[in-house]
Amino acid sequence: MEVLKTIADVRRVRREVTGSLALVPTMGALHQGHLSLMNLAREKAEKVMFYIFVNPTQFNNPDDLKNYPRDIERDISLLREKGVDYVFTPDVDVIYAGNMGTKVIPCSLGEVMEGPNRPGHFQGVCTVLNIFFNLVRPDFAVFGEKDYQQMRIVEEMVKDLRMDLEIVRAPISREESGLARSSRNELLSMEERGKAKVISEALSLIKDMKAQGELKTEVLLRAGGQVLARVPELKPEYLTINSAVDLKEANGVLDRADYRVFFAGSLGKVRLIDNMGI
Ligand code: AMP
Repeated sequence: MEVLKTIADVRRVRREVTGSLALVPTMGALHQGHLSLMNLAREKAEKVMFYIFVNPTQFNNPDDLKNYPRDIERDISLLREKGVDYVFTPDVDVIYAGNMGTKVIPCSLGEVMEGPNRPGHFQGVCTVLNIFFNLVRPDFAVFGEKDYQQMRIVEEMVKDLRMDLEIVRAPISREESGLARSSRNELLSMEERGKAKVISEALSLIKDMKAQGELKTEVLLRAGGQVLARVPELKPEYLTINSAVDLKEANGVLDRADYRVFFAGSLGKVRLIDNMGI
């Protein structure tokens, strides 16, 4: 496995790779969820590149950026063990030198849920992905449904800007308790980690109730909210049912099959998000 640090490194590798290349964008502190993206990348392409870059422009909270878990040595040895071909892990000034002006504005899918709660977040995501897509020119890029809204925004960006790459969707990888795997879970105490499982319990309850024929959003969300309320330390920001396609909020009676339920909230100092197809 080759570790790439500079733009010259990544350009050289891109010239050398003759077959297809899949890119897995991450912010590091890798876990099983990231490795499931790697497996999909392997199925799609001959060569697999991870990038590990904690992108400052997508953090709207300086403390969140400062406290974001980082363990680059461990990440690199994990990826080496798993047989990834390349890891691109540039310093911040390598990516942003000479480009502090041009920004990519996300489509209107960025105006709900995480959008108002994290101003500037999706603009930071879209801008940094453009930089990485231009440098790496991958044939495939793998994104997790864990960040479903991000994945949909990236799909639209690729379509709108006529980018020549295919976005591959990876299902959410969960711990045994049901908690969606996340680098941020490392910041939870053992006790909090146990409590965080109410999030997936609430989402699963909503899914099950809908499967049994309950279509009123108010009833579904009230039931989910009651499960969340079992952990008073959990401070929900939103629990909402939205179209899986245009992400518009569903209010009233669900009329089609294609919905997802989305959650964001904080447990102690850690902000958690999750979602589930219902
Ligand atoms: P991150 O390092 O958190 O920015 O995540 C990098 C990529 O991994 C994103 O596409 C995430 O959606 C994806 N990812 C993170 N956690 C999971 C998970 N538990 N299941 C599936 N994909 C995930």
